[in-house]
Amino acid sequence: ASIIDGILLSGSPFLRYRHNDYDQLERLVQKNACQYETIIILTESIFSMDGDVADLNRLIAIKRQYPNILLYVDEAHAIGARGKTGLGIAEEQGCIQEIDLLVGTFGKALASMGAYLVCSRTIREYLVNTMRPLIFSTALPPFQIAWTSFIWERLPSLTKERENLLAYSRLLAEALTGKGGEISQSHIIPFIVGESEDCVRKAEELQRKGFYCLPVRPPTVPKGTSRIRFSLTANLTIKNIHQLIVETGHASSPTGARPVSTPPDRELDR
Ligand SMILES: *Cc1c(COP(=O)(O)O)cnc(C)c1O
Repeated sequence: ASIIDGILLSGSPFLRYRHNDYDQLERLVQKNACQYETIIILTESIFSMDGDVADLNRLIAIKRQYPNILLYVDEAHAIGARGKTGLGIAEEQGCIQEIDLLVGTFGKALASMGAYLVCSRTIREYLVNTMRPLIFSTALPPFQIAWTSFIWERLPSLTKERENLLAYSRLLAEALTGKGGEISQSHIIPFIVGESEDCVRKAEELQRKGFYCLPVRPPTVPKGTSRIRFSLTANLTIKNIHQLIVETGHASSPTGARPVSTPPDRELDR
């Protein structure tokens, strides 16, 4: 939603490619590359609804076939959580240098506010001078920036936390296999319940048992794939995960909730 709103605000024409369908993207690029001065390919790195991960090197390969393509990667869910020093999936996949516009937020793993863009000086100057939402909003308060710097400087040393997070995520995703969890390759793990009301009921039940989790329903996700979206943190214990697995395990069988293992194509036709 953030990416789409940004595109709409830019006023640029845009096309969507199906979720991680790089063959389709390649065809679209081929068809359109000569019609535009510049094309920007946009992607999240960790996808916020399924927790799956983009193949950035594949996107870079597509970009390199043409002289007028820039690659924009939104690392909102990956910054702090992935990569050797916490710089995200671009670091993990060894391609930071190749990303033209690398975006991240301080609002998730960094527990702060604000966001960043890593880009060329030219693009920076352009945005600082033309981007209305930036020009006409108040700067962040200094204490917020101090807090962000404090956390930012510590990111590289949080290796153990990142390892824990990944290990617990795998454990939960494996346990939820067949219930939607298997598509996740990250700490964002969907537990696909199916119908909207079942999903809300299940989330409330888990909350009563002490697991803070929220239901995600249409139109955020396709109909019939309402899900509880677990977002794990590094401070969980193995015991917490096992308890959660037991609690989610009760969901599908006795009550007859209908898990849908693979969500349909998520392309939003507008
Ligand atoms: C959360 C999120 C944002 C917005 O982050 P802020 O905390 O508002 O800075 C932007 N893009 C993606 C992909 C997100 O998941």
